[in-house]
Amino acid sequence: MKSLITMESVRAWRKKITGKVVFVPTMGALHHGHEALIRDARRLAGLKGSVVVSIFLNPIQFGPREDVASYPKPLKNDITVCRRAGADAVFLPTVADMYGPDRSVFVDEESLSSVLCGRSRPGHFRGVCTVVAKLFNIVQPTHAIFGEKDWQQLAIIRRMVRDLNFPVEIVTAPTVRESDGLAASSRNAYLTAEERALAPLIHAAMQSAVEKLKDPVAIVRAVARAVEKIPGARLDYAETVDSVTLLPLKNRKSAGRLAVAVFLGKTRLIDNIGLPPHK
Ligand code: AMP
Repeated sequence: MKSLITMESVRAWRKKITGKVVFVPTMGALHHGHEALIRDARRLAGLKGSVVVSIFLNPIQFGPREDVASYPKPLKNDITVCRRAGADAVFLPTVADMYGPDRSVFVDEESLSSVLCGRSRPGHFRGVCTVVAKLFNIVQPTHAIFGEKDWQQLAIIRRMVRDLNFPVEIVTAPTVRESDGLAASSRNAYLTAEERALAPLIHAAMQSAVEKLKDPVAIVRAVARAVEKIPGARLDYAETVDSVTLLPLKNRKSAGRLAVAVFLGKTRLIDNIGLPPHK
């Protein structure tokens, strides 16, 4: 597996490849959710194609009071995960190479970014779109894989690819969970033992509401009530939205998503599950 640091080294590597190039962008601190994405990429690329993973802790997608400085950076383990999962190359750009001091061009998605996490984290998706657009231009993948764990991000990237005509096919991967239902996340490492024990209650509340109730508003109310009862938890949002437009789900005629963000102590956890259309 090749480690590529500079843009020039990626270009030189890319020039030699003619088959599928399947790209997995990450911020590092790789866990088994990321590993599943890389394995999916390997399957998709096949024997003739190539898999490239980027590890870049993108500062411009973090707000001033967010956790960019304390975000875990276990680079050696990250490289091991990439190799084990079958990546051909890892791209490790530096912040200085990615962002000149006089940078002045950003990619702003203006509709889907204004709801859910976009409301709680102003500027976050501008940072995400900008870095993903840059990475697409540098790596020039034929395919890129994103996890359903970050449903809003996935919807926004699809919109960006559509509206800016990026010649890349977006592929999705289901959310990987711990055995107790908690969605795997680099941020789970911040949880205290007590918080970690309580965290699966969020997903359990979501599952239970979706199994028992049909009405999108009733589902949201049930989740909010259940989260209120978790000691140390504070609901950021719980919403039922259309899977593609992220507009509030009015009924169950089209496919929807229940999306939730909860502060457990100081850690903000997000999760989402599907709401299949009701006949
Ligand atoms: P991140 O490093 O958090 O930016 O995530 C990189 C990619 O991994 C994104 O496409 C995420 O949606 C995906 N991802 C993170 N956690 C999970 C998970 N638990 N299951 C599936 N995909 C995930």
